[in-house]
Amino acid sequence: MLGLMQDRPLLISQIIDFAAASYPDVEIVSRSVEGPIHRYGYRDAARRSKQLAEALLGLGVKPGDRVGTIAWNGYRHFELYYGVSGIGAVLHTLNPRLTPDHVAYIANHAEDKVVFVDLNLLPIVEGVIDRLPLVKHVVVMTDRAHMPASSKVKNLLCYEELIAGQPGTLVWPEFDERTASSLCYTSGTTGNPKGVVYSHRSTVLHTWMMCSGAVLGLTPDNTVLPVVPMFHANAWGLVYAAPMSGSALVLPGPALDGASIYALMDAEKVDISAGVPTVWLALLNHCEQNGLKLAAMKRTLIGGSAIPRAMIERFWREHEVEVVHGWGMTEMSPLGTATRFNRGERALPDQQRHDIQAKQGRPVFGVEMKIVDDAGADLPKDGVASGDLLVRGPWIVNGYMKGEGKGAFTSDGWFHTGDVSKIEPDQSMVITDRSKDVIKSGGEWISSIDLENAAMGCPGVAEAAVIGVAHPKWDERPLLIVVRKPGADVSKEQVQEFLVGKIAKWWTPDDVQFIDAIPHGATGKILKTALRAHFKDYTLPTA
Ligand code: ADP
Repeated sequence: MLGLMQDRPLLISQIIDFAAASYPDVEIVSRSVEGPIHRYGYRDAARRSKQLAEALLGLGVKPGDRVGTIAWNGYRHFELYYGVSGIGAVLHTLNPRLTPDHVAYIANHAEDKVVFVDLNLLPIVEGVIDRLPLVKHVVVMTDRAHMPASSKVKNLLCYEELIAGQPGTLVWPEFDERTASSLCYTSGTTGNPKGVVYSHRSTVLHTWMMCSGAVLGLTPDNTVLPVVPMFHANAWGLVYAAPMSGSALVLPGPALDGASIYALMDAEKVDISAGVPTVWLALLNHCEQNGLKLAAMKRTLIGGSAIPRAMIERFWREHEVEVVHGWGMTEMSPLGTATRFNRGERALPDQQRHDIQAKQGRPVFGVEMKIVDDAGADLPKDGVASGDLLVRGPWIVNGYMKGEGKGAFTSDGWFHTGDVSKIEPDQSMVITDRSKDVIKSGGEWISSIDLENAAMGCPGVAEAAVIGVAHPKWDERPLLIVVRKPGADVSKEQVQEFLVGKIAKWWTPDDVQFIDAIPHGATGKILKTALRAHFKDYTLPTA
C-alpha cells in the first residue's frame, strides 16, 4: 500500500520564493569587489534572481546547460545560485585559486556555455579564453561604471546591464526534483578534478539537515557569515540554509584576511560562521595581536581538514565560541558528520567537551557510514578497528560526471570516501588519514593527522605537516615539516620532546625539517603532493 500524500518536487526555487514571502526584509550584506558594503533583503534578492533568470533565457540558456561562475561570496553570486538553477540550468562554480590549466580543463569538461566572473577575477578568464571554444558569453559581475575593457575577451557583457529592464516576474518552472542543479569539481588534491553533480532534491534535503538543531540550528535570530567560499561545495550549503531559515547572510567578498573578517563580523554582529582551519588561524592571531574579542559570535563550523585541538581550545578560552567540527566532502554536498553534544555532554568540563569536538563528529540523519578492511569486509564500530570509510545517503554522489572514477562506487550503493577512519560505539567518527597520506610503518598505520595536530600545539610552531618517507627497515617513517612562528627558534629536539606522552612512542617523527611556508591547495588544505615532491630526494638521518 502506498502513502496517500502529495508528491511535490523539492526545488531550489522554492527556497528563494519562501524567503521573499516570509523574510522579505532580512538582509544579505555583501562586501563588494568594487569596495562598498551592499545590503538588501530577500525580497529584492528574489526579484533580481528572477531578472537574471529572464536574462539567461534571453541569452539562449536551456535546461541542462552549464553556467560557470568564477566569483567570491557576494550578492550577485547569490542571485546566480537561484537564477541559474531555478530555470533548470546547472550552476557550475569554479575555484579561482586553481591553476589556469585546471580552470580550462574543468570549464571544458563541464561544457560551460556562459561564464560569470567577478571584476577582479577577469584576468583568469582572459588567460584561458582561447582554450574555451564552447563559451559563448562572458559576463562581468559589476555595473557599467566599473566595466573593464578587455582586449582578450570579445563582447564582454555587464551583469547590471544584462538584468536591467527584465521584469523580474518570472514564475519558476516546475520539473523533476532529480534534475541537476549545480556542479562542483573536487579540488584535485588527489588526482584530476572530477565533477560532482547535485540535484534539486539532494540540495533541498541537505539544506534541511544543515538548518536543523542537530547541526547549526538556524533561526531568524541568527546572522551567518560563510567564510567558506561559494565555489567550495556550495559554501557548505549555507547559501541555501540561511534563506530557508530566515537568518541574515553576510558575504565577505574577496577580503578573507583576519582583519577584514573581524571587521565584518563585528559590524554585522555575526553569530554563526563556517570555514576551513587556515582562515580561522589568521582570525585568531589577528584578534590576539590586537586585543580583540569576537563578541557576538557563538559557534563556528570548521571542516575541510582536521582541526588542531589547540584551535578548539583557543576559540573557547579566548572568545567563548563553540567549534562545531564537521567532516564532509564535495561528493557529500558536503556534510557527513558534525560535533553534536548528546544529552548531558554540554555540561561536561571543558577538556572533556574538547575531546568530543576534536573528533570529526557524529553522522547527521541521512548519512550512513561503515568501515571495511582491504578485502571489503565490514569492520566493527568499536573505536579500535580502523579501515576504509564508506558512506551512503540521499545527498551523496552516485557517480561522477561523464562516468569517471567508477572505482569509488560499490555495486551495492556505497561510496568510497578515500578516508581511513574509526567509528566509536556511540557513532563518533575519527579520521585517521586520507588513504593516500597514511604512513605505513612496519605494517602498522601512523596517522599523519594526529601527528600534525599534536605538533601544532607546540610553542613556536605555526604550522605542521607530516609525510611518509621511505625507510629500509620500516617501509615508511614519518617526517615532520614545521613552519616556525615569526621570531620563534624552536628546535627539532624541542618539538620531539613536546610530543612525548601525546602520541605513541613509535610514532615519534624520525626527523623535523623547518621550512618557510607549507603549500596549500585551492581549498586551503595542505598540499601533501607538493610536500612530497619538495622532499623527494630527502633521506632520513641514519643514526
Ligand atoms: P578534495 O576531496 O578534492 O580534497 P573536499 O573539499 O571534498 O575536496 O575534501 C574532502 C576531504 O577533506 C575528506 O575526504 C577528508 O579527507 C578531508 N576532510 C574534510 N573535513 C575533515 C575533517 N574535519 N577532518 C579531517 N579531514 C577532513
